[in-house]
Amino acid sequence: MVSRVIPVDDFDLVIFGGTGDLAHRKILPGLYRRFLAGQFPDTARIIGAARTKQDDAAFREEVRGAVVKFGGVPEGDENLTAFLNLIGYVAIDASGEDGWQDLKSRMRSGVIHAFYFSVAPSLFGDIAQRLAGYGIADADSRIVVEKPFGRDLTTARELNATLARHFVEEQIYRIDHYLGKETVQNLMAVRFANILFEPLWNAQYVDHVQITVAETVGVAGRGSYYDRSGAIRDMVQNHLMQLLCLIAMEPPYHFDPNAVRDEKLKVIRALEPVGPDDIVRGQYQAGGEGAAYVTDAENPDSRTESYVAMKVRIANWRWQGAPFYLRTGKKLRARTSEIAITFKEPPHSIFDDGVPRANQLVIRLQPNEGMNLKVMIKEPGPGGMRLVQVPLDMTFAEALGNDGADVPDAYERLIMDVIRGNQTLFMRGDEVEAAWAWTDPIIEAWETGKTRPEPYDAGSSGPEEALRLLHRDNRRWREIRA
Ligand code: NAP
Repeated sequence: MVSRVIPVDDFDLVIFGGTGDLAHRKILPGLYRRFLAGQFPDTARIIGAARTKQDDAAFREEVRGAVVKFGGVPEGDENLTAFLNLIGYVAIDASGEDGWQDLKSRMRSGVIHAFYFSVAPSLFGDIAQRLAGYGIADADSRIVVEKPFGRDLTTARELNATLARHFVEEQIYRIDHYLGKETVQNLMAVRFANILFEPLWNAQYVDHVQITVAETVGVAGRGSYYDRSGAIRDMVQNHLMQLLCLIAMEPPYHFDPNAVRDEKLKVIRALEPVGPDDIVRGQYQAGGEGAAYVTDAENPDSRTESYVAMKVRIANWRWQGAPFYLRTGKKLRARTSEIAITFKEPPHSIFDDGVPRANQLVIRLQPNEGMNLKVMIKEPGPGGMRLVQVPLDMTFAEALGNDGADVPDAYERLIMDVIRGNQTLFMRGDEVEAAWAWTDPIIEAWETGKTRPEPYDAGSSGPEEALRLLHRDNRRWREIRA
């Protein structure tokens, strides 16, 4: 099965921060892949904008290097030259007046205008104001903003208000790249395009849900940024929250951006506050060749968490009694992201063998995006009725009949959605604020309590205390493995 490419209309895409890490690593290689797939016309323009003084030709060489390095493209790739012909560059200072007229003169009329703010959030206001002030953006233009969207409710509100001075909500695309992952969208397809799961999708049949985002890397190289953020701000408030919403939300009346986001918002508002007994913070210690968190963060007294695990209750009819356990951390034993829905055991067992037979639906985000449903079957062969649990596995790369090369990366899909004008997979301002309203008290309690995170060994599954979070409920975390 080859994925179908639906071309988008002609556009001018300006990438503020076009010389930065995110543009090199994700945005530009992603655009190249969409170009190769034939998703946009070869009249489209991509304009890098940053302070570095250089001309179009120099930036094109920079883009070539980035696409080769991060896109896995061979150096002499012929199509790459055609792609580079779409690329231009404007030296611009977001907080000064240089370069804006030049940018304006390059924008074509009659095509979609999108502006990707791939710069520090402190520059979002300056860019929004100048795009409007110089008459570069109009009522049809779209802006794309990167995380972090604020560091608490107050700053998120300020940021929303700043953008709202120049753009309406329908023009603002707040990226959470987790929402662009194939599996995450498939989650909605599985839930809302099949009748099989939805009748069981509630606390009567679901025992609990686990959401895990485990990384093997530490914070070395971005320690000073991370140390001001920590796992709850960096991962829970946005990515894990979005995953939780997609699992927990009611079916929207239509697959429409606001209908979907209304339902997600209702979930966030129904989250119960998390008390200190239901949350564990951790910080990795030195191990193997790796340094401790405090060394990586260059802050020997740091109390910032590189790991967090929590039990979350959703106060509504559907989920009362079925907790969601969330955990995420750095320097863990494997790199894996998954959602596991553990169903209850059948109410009565006719097989007298003591084998636990709870079905489990596991949705893998990485590695190998896919789903698997654990079901009980009879162990083949003679010798009586012995039961065994087997996975019904659907790895997307296999299901799609290729090596996964046709499955677009999250950034590719999301940028094309911006051009299409589809906001379904982007966070709305009120969602972001509601998520901060829920996480703020947790962070405040840590800050006022001055508690230290629990130490855990690099390469482990996290602190011991996190195991107890489930043990006391007679449950166990799934093993963290690739
Ligand atoms: P970065 O590598 O530090 O790049 C920052 C970019 O902004 C550079 O192109 C820089 O170029 C430009 N810039 C800085 N000051 C400017 C100014 N006054 N006017 C115009 N351009 C200016 O940062 P990044 O890692 O790409 O991150 C960009 C944004 O994405 C941040 O909000 C970050 O939180 C977010 N993000 C990044 C990642 C990632 O993997 N890197 C992941 C998620 C979110 P000049 O120095 O030439 O001006």
